[in-house]
Amino acid sequence: MARRRQLYEGKAKILFEGPEPGTLVQYFKDDATAFNAQKKGTITGKGVLNNRISEYLMQRLGEIGIPTHFIRRLNMREQLVREVEIIPLEIVVRNVAAGSLATRLGIQEGTRLPRSIIEYYYKNDALQDPMVSEEHITAFGWASTHDLDDIVQLTLRVNDFLTGLLLGVGITLVDFKLEFGRLYENDEMRIVLADEISPDNCRLWDAKTGEKMDKDRFRRDLGKVEEGYQEVARRLGILPEAGVRDMKGPEVMQ
Ligand code: ADP
Ligand code: MG
Repeated sequence: MARRRQLYEGKAKILFEGPEPGTLVQYFKDDATAFNAQKKGTITGKGVLNNRISEYLMQRLGEIGIPTHFIRRLNMREQLVREVEIIPLEIVVRNVAAGSLATRLGIQEGTRLPRSIIEYYYKNDALQDPMVSEEHITAFGWASTHDLDDIVQLTLRVNDFLTGLLLGVGITLVDFKLEFGRLYENDEMRIVLADEISPDNCRLWDAKTGEKMDKDRFRRDLGKVEEGYQEVARRLGILPEAGVRDMKGPEVMQ
């Protein structure tokens, strides 16, 4: 198969030009970074699992009417998506205190929050993704108030739906990060969910034991990192049949 033109290499994925205009191929790597890329490593099989988990969750979200960039999975490590104009924000939703919220505000990790809290971060590696407010976002034109309204509505629906879906398989959705983009179609613009939803950008705890099944295992050197990601896929009923060992590059499944 002719190799596609690479457009961007990020920390966890590579973007290639898609087969048709307006499409992209997202390639999921095993590379892992944490603490603004100060910590680097590899999680064997992560790319395969994240590709599958993100496909599954985007599909389920699509079924309840959440517009997403997802078109279809191409192989073990690649998925075809619609190219969007990425809004340079990381939208974080929190249901339970953890991570920076616990540290910054002195709230004990694991405390159930009185309600779901949305936070915004400006997506800029050089600035280490600083937290920003709606004021910054609209003043600097990263998104309009109308865009933000759409983003918040979509984010809350995603949170409610994923919270239920994951609780059904014994997982607490502690917090997660979303990215949105603008999709232009026949002179109309729609905000759609983009990027990925995976244990790289969600905190997922076993609902009974509180055991972590996400990137915190890597951040905090807890060990059994791949096993955590694998367990999420297993519970969702989507563990790749061929196993998580790298399939020596993309393997067309259709
Ligand atoms: P980063 O290191 O910037 O987080 P990743 O390794 O996550 O990068 O690679 C994915 C990149 O592609 C991100 O910068 C993300 O914003 C961008 N992206 C995700 N989905 C789309 C899309 N549908 N269209 C255009 N860009 C996208
Ligand atoms: Mg990313």
